[in-house]
Amino acid sequence: MNLKDYSLQALMEITARPELVFVKGAGSWLTDHQGKRYLDFVQGWAVNALGHSPPCIVEALAAQAPLLITPSPAFYNEPALKLADLLTRHSCFDQVFFCNTGAEANEGVIKLARKWGKKHRRGAFEIITFDHSFHGRTLATMSASGKPGWDTMFAPQVPGFPKAEMNDLASVSALITDKTVGIMLEPVQGEGGVNCATHEFMRGLRELADQHQLLLICDEVQTGMGRLGTLFGYQHYGIEPDIMSLGKGIGGGVPLAALLAKRHVCVFEHGDQGGTYNGNPLMAAVGVAVLEEMLKPGFLPHVCEMGNYLSGQLTALAMELKLGEERGVGLLRALELNADIGARIVSYSRDELSSQAGWAGIGLLLNSPRPAVLRFMPALNLGTAEIDRMIDGLRLSVQAVRT
Ligand SMILES: *Cc1c(COP(=O)(O)O)cnc(C)c1O
Repeated sequence: MNLKDYSLQALMEITARPELVFVKGAGSWLTDHQGKRYLDFVQGWAVNALGHSPPCIVEALAAQAPLLITPSPAFYNEPALKLADLLTRHSCFDQVFFCNTGAEANEGVIKLARKWGKKHRRGAFEIITFDHSFHGRTLATMSASGKPGWDTMFAPQVPGFPKAEMNDLASVSALITDKTVGIMLEPVQGEGGVNCATHEFMRGLRELADQHQLLLICDEVQTGMGRLGTLFGYQHYGIEPDIMSLGKGIGGGVPLAALLAKRHVCVFEHGDQGGTYNGNPLMAAVGVAVLEEMLKPGFLPHVCEMGNYLSGQLTALAMELKLGEERGVGLLRALELNADIGARIVSYSRDELSSQAGWAGIGLLLNSPRPAVLRFMPALNLGTAEIDRMIDGLRLSVQAVRT
């Protein structure tokens, strides 16, 4: 492919994109239009849980596409039934509603909670959410998010999302009124820079919710599907939420998301919720393939093992280069840089690292969710060789941008 064949201006500019076109991917590696290869520790923002184009997804798409792509969300189809069965059997939830994106799943979560409040809590509708949280880019999910500046960006906001502080139970208690219907959080805030809820905080939220008859809602779009080394993030914390949203990893790269709820919260009536592509068999078949892969013995222990290994290597590098704190759970990790050099490290590793010994023709894809933080969200099935390689590239990049 030649970059000159197309006008880059034909695409709306919603972010600063490097002038690269990725043409293929396999596992932890991507290839651009000039044949340069990249070790990928972004993976579509924690989306490709099994890496790029894993055989099980390719096979699921190839097997399902000729059979049935979309009958209508108002008819049953086998892959959706199978995926719902697997998800409910392996989680604490009773029912599933499929959608296409994380934001759409969270919109559904908000609607379900408000409906439950109308039926059971005399119209309570407020959902307490958290500073620095990220729940999506629709108007309601932007309003639920605690990203600085998002409250005024597309004003007026959707009301009903008072903000508390992560790991500060008193800040949550202080916001509870007779209008409160639930508390929603990411067990580990991803976009916010990998801020982990403590076990104590999660248990405290569950107790608070029980005490005040509130719904505890986990946005597991990023933390679910093996990312934290447990199938779902809430299992790491040993609590059970009432509602959970899934996205990203569940499709392993294709648009698939879900909202799951316990029986007593499943209050949607006919006409309350729907969507043209919801639960279509093509995407659901991929979800089944991804989940079956993750349920194989050894998969989740491997995520824990790689998470520990990555953590150890990042900690050692931080000592060596006098960087800051390393944190995270499983394979969702972050490194504090102690200086606003995140963006420069990201662009150096991608575009200039290939000038260094051992990196000819190769780049490294990293993510910097905040100016002084790097976030690591590699494929869950990677090995120590990819981690060692990434650490080597990161060391060279930090040294280069510091000089
Ligand atoms: C990515 C993300 C979303 C939004 O998902 P989309 O598929 O981009 O709509 C919501 N919540 C969390 C925690 C996320 O990481």
